[in-house]
Amino acid sequence: MSKSLVERVIRADVRALSAYPVPDASGFVKLDAMENPYTLPQALREELGQRLAAVALNRYPVPSYTLLKEKLCRHMGVPAGFDVLLGNGSDELISIMSIACAQAGAKVLAPEPGFVMYGVSARFAGLDYVSVPLKADFTLDRDALLAAIAAHRPAITYLAYPNNPTGTLYDAADIEAVIRAVGDSGIVVVDEAYQPFAQESFMPRLPEFNNLVVMRTVSKLGLAGIRLGYMAADPALLQEFDKVRPPYNINVLTQAAAEFVLDHTAELDRQAAALRSARSELAAAIAGLGSVEVFPSAANFLLIRMANADKVFAGLLQRKVLVKNAGKMHPSLRNCLRVNVSTSEENALFLKALKESLQERI
Ligand code: PMP
Repeated sequence: MSKSLVERVIRADVRALSAYPVPDASGFVKLDAMENPYTLPQALREELGQRLAAVALNRYPVPSYTLLKEKLCRHMGVPAGFDVLLGNGSDELISIMSIACAQAGAKVLAPEPGFVMYGVSARFAGLDYVSVPLKADFTLDRDALLAAIAAHRPAITYLAYPNNPTGTLYDAADIEAVIRAVGDSGIVVVDEAYQPFAQESFMPRLPEFNNLVVMRTVSKLGLAGIRLGYMAADPALLQEFDKVRPPYNINVLTQAAAEFVLDHTAELDRQAAALRSARSELAAAIAGLGSVEVFPSAANFLLIRMANADKVFAGLLQRKVLVKNAGKMHPSLRNCLRVNVSTSEENALFLKALKESLQERI
């Protein structure tokens, strides 16, 4: 294809981007993407297999997704009178909100370091993106946020609760102050992707705020492969976002798998509980090494800081352990790595590889 065609047709800002990097993890202990390491027990997998075999692949999904939504509302504590909108992962919900709010001059605001897709999706939709730095300990800088809200009047403000890539569970009073400061001029999306590991939530508080959107995903819960996100908000808002949603965005296999797994949430809850206790053990073991700082995390990963993290990252790669070199993501994450909490076997493999990589880094 001639270069000039690409230049004529594709937006300059898109051409200047690099694609979202996803490294090939085959042969690695994969601890870079906040996945749940557990699969479903064999008996459930077999039953699921039968359900999926019965799905009519020749038919489009029925776009109301009534049963799936009912089950999500019931199992995920969505308050009475509130409904959910479904997305092909919460990534799609972020784009839906960006597109729906993309009026001339509209802005999106988020603390940084944070989830990269808030800014990426805003720019794709033609919205201005404004970031506000977190404090050095990665907690919210309430004064700076309130000042930015007053200056920019953002249409969308994102707060990940807990935050990725830091794991921080922001102070609920700070979040409330942001929701009130934004008031009627914008929506505040509390992104609860890691809620199963934090167990704190703004979901029950939806009736208090007409500008609050609570967004969740089943990805971190153990179902990253099926791509299903959901968000709850005032019905007047959801109704508008629904107009932007591609009509058949949840495929029939995802729909059937989610409906099945939602009847077995006890298994997912057990897995999340195991990861929460593994998180404390892993954090204590890493802190015990002496030369590594471990930031408090309410998610299924830990952010850790050490001297010469690039070398440690390379040492881990050599030992076939893949974590995220967070230092490359944001200047305030210098010398930080982000590592998933996993099974006790994988956590032990990581710890051993970390110890060895720390020793040889100098
Ligand atoms: N929000 C946050 C804070 C995340 O970290 C992620 C995934 N990394 C997502 C949303 C997207 O999740 P998914 O598209 O898998 O639902």
